[in-house]
Amino acid sequence: MVFTPGFDVGRIRPRRPLVLCAASLAVLSGLAARAGEAPAAPKAPKEIPAAVEEGTIRAAEYLPRIADLAGEELVYRGRIFKGGISMDVGEAVFRVLAGDEPGTVKLAAEAKGGKLGYTLEATTVTLLEMPAGHPIVTTFAQHGSEWREKRFLFRPGHVFYLKKKHCKDPNCGDPAHQASRVHWAGGVVPWGTERVHCPGCDDPAHFVWSQREHFTVKDVYMDPLACLYAARGMPFDVGGPKAVFPIVQDHDLWSVEVRAVGREAKEVDAGTFSCLRISVEPKPASEGAEIKDEFQGVFGIQGSIQIWIDERTRIPVLVRGSIPFAFMTLHAEVILKEIRSRAAGPTPASAKEEK
Ligand SMILES: [Zn+2]
Ligand SMILES: [Zn+2]
Repeated sequence: MVFTPGFDVGRIRPRRPLVLCAASLAVLSGLAARAGEAPAAPKAPKEIPAAVEEGTIRAAEYLPRIADLAGEELVYRGRIFKGGISMDVGEAVFRVLAGDEPGTVKLAAEAKGGKLGYTLEATTVTLLEMPAGHPIVTTFAQHGSEWREKRFLFRPGHVFYLKKKHCKDPNCGDPAHQASRVHWAGGVVPWGTERVHCPGCDDPAHFVWSQREHFTVKDVYMDPLACLYAARGMPFDVGGPKAVFPIVQDHDLWSVEVRAVGREAKEVDAGTFSCLRISVEPKPASEGAEIKDEFQGVFGIQGSIQIWIDERTRIPVLVRGSIPFAFMTLHAEVILKEIRSRAAGPTPASAKEEK
């Protein structure tokens, strides 16, 4: 049986249908509405073997603790470096909220900024289903100089990557995709306008969700945002075991190894923190897999990524890496600016408390 989401929704059965989030339902029903649109024949899913070894800290085990962080709001500022000078490029707000459906938690990161004629508004929202904390759906939307919308659906044993693309269906009857075209009578006289299915443009109203990838997986995969929060409950310690995060990023699946490599005090806008320095080493989830894009963290931080987290709360204090910006790749920093509100729940256990 070929597992084809969206084009045969009956085959996607969430474990608890009532808790399937509204966003996820919207995607599925939106795709279901297009079931008669003769979609391209689905490719066979890519089978990904288990990537998380024994003896490592498994990210999935720390997802339930994210529920304790509901109510937290953190503000970061982004900075890029160019020709010996640094400039602020925008702010990002990270929130942990109760989901719209009971028993769900929502992670939301909103970034706004721009410089050098380039503007960016990007939102990432990840919905987790408690008590296990497994991701259900991650939606990424970018507006400004570049327009991009994509979505990752997570089902037990399956990961789907969907992207919004201009509708190319020759039999599409959606009136929202119609555009006016001048009709030439006899090829000579303009004879009024006729409505035709738009052949292609930048109008987001003409875009539809299309499935780009389907992976069958053995591990619990998540997006980089869920990783940041899973790490909050982890017993990291210098010289301790590495943690492994199975991460989906568009066409690629990664097994990202993370370990604490040092202790350093860091002074940022939000204060001075006693930090653990974290090294991030992305590896393709399946050996020998062809990788399409470089690994990226939240909001496109890539390259050699270094993270300093507060030793007590594990809040990320400083992130260093590079970022593609205005069609260049620049050195970038993301700096904790303000802890706007702390979680009502308990602070995640520290390595010392867990021993
Ligand atoms: Zn259409
Ligand atoms: Zn169009």
